[in-house]
Amino acid sequence: MVATEAHLPKILTALPGPKAKAAVEADARFVSPPYTRVYPLVVERGHGCILEDVDGNTFLDFNAGIAVCSTGHSHPKVVDAIQRQSAKFLHMSGTDFYYPHMAELAERLAATFPGPGEKKVYFGNSGTEAIEAAMKLARYSTGRDKFIAFHGCFHGRTMGALSLTSSKLAQRRRFGPLVPGVYHAPYPDAAYIENQLFRALVPPEEVAAIVVEPIQGEGGYLIPPHSFLQELRQICDRHGILLVVDEVQSGCGRTGKMWAIEHTGVVPDIICSAKGIASGMPLSATIARAEIMSWKPGAHASTFGGNPVCIAAALATLDLLESELMANATDMGKFILDRISGWPSRHKMVRDVRGRGLMVAIELISHDARDRIVQEAFQRGLLILGAGESALRLMPPLVVTREQASFALDVIEELCSTADERR
Ligand code: PLP
Repeated sequence: MVATEAHLPKILTALPGPKAKAAVEADARFVSPPYTRVYPLVVERGHGCILEDVDGNTFLDFNAGIAVCSTGHSHPKVVDAIQRQSAKFLHMSGTDFYYPHMAELAERLAATFPGPGEKKVYFGNSGTEAIEAAMKLARYSTGRDKFIAFHGCFHGRTMGALSLTSSKLAQRRRFGPLVPGVYHAPYPDAAYIENQLFRALVPPEEVAAIVVEPIQGEGGYLIPPHSFLQELRQICDRHGILLVVDEVQSGCGRTGKMWAIEHTGVVPDIICSAKGIASGMPLSATIARAEIMSWKPGAHASTFGGNPVCIAAALATLDLLESELMANATDMGKFILDRISGWPSRHKMVRDVRGRGLMVAIELISHDARDRIVQEAFQRGLLILGAGESALRLMPPLVVTREQASFALDVIEELCSTADERR
């Protein structure tokens, strides 16, 4: 049995091990430095929720490559789809030519979009490109140029998406001027838009779109009340504004439904998806009502967008999400939330817990306490990361089992208890 076929992690060396140390040193010499590596995990291979590093240590992955490896690492059905497509052809620019499974995926994604009517899909390669496409499409189809986004939101790092992003100063510092005409409101405060922005700062008839994460991801896994999204829908309807939901992190079954917006009953105008859509292959989709997708040939495109191998991976991913993994996300999410719901009263370290499906946050009392637990968990073979100021975020692959979830929670609870005692 290869190490990654085990279900629980095993640490064999001091971390980082010798090969990992060498890889980190080589990286520091040759790779551009803006990446934010939190701990020295150097990956050799993965299977399901288990990753093996270059020194033979195995880890339980509760990051899923930042909410990307929805079907687990190298799911055999996804690998098979990739291998079969790679053997046929790797690329033939779907923006200039045709291959049938691009339309097949578009049809299947369109069918997942809430509400009646025809939908169309624009394919790109990354989350930020899905947002760029939505911004350009919103301007194109409305003839308006302004946008509203929210404090704490993360929508990507290309110039348009970055103009919406208001997560951390480091992401914006020295990159201005950004795209003009973007206004921010507190999250989740819909009334602020009418009472402040539309009274004093921006005429509503100039706003092309409100862009919102239905659950704020990098901002700390903040789950707004359903009424927030419902009020945004009403504001958009009142003023002819498009409602764009950024489901790059919250979508593709992670919350137990294909899109997190479905929990609210709200029908958006545009959905942006990436990350989990193709299990780790680079693909994004900007899905809109057909009448909004009114742009003409030449208006927007990308050489690699909708790459045939990525599309094959996405079709296999959708099969798995629909047949079993969305249901598992619901069950495992409930199992985790039930287990942690008493923690704020039991642990001095824990201020709040919240989640929907497998988007779960454990809010600790401080940034430092959170960062320390992330490091200690790594030493124990559990991969978790932070989000927002002081939250631990749990975003395992949707194939996670009860045994694995229990292991992760045992580790985190033990680390919280030790931290309680230190205080
Ligand atoms: N939107 C959301 C909600 C995200 O969480 C992210 C990435 O974390 C993005 C957009 C940008 O995606 P990418 O890094 O693929 O450009």
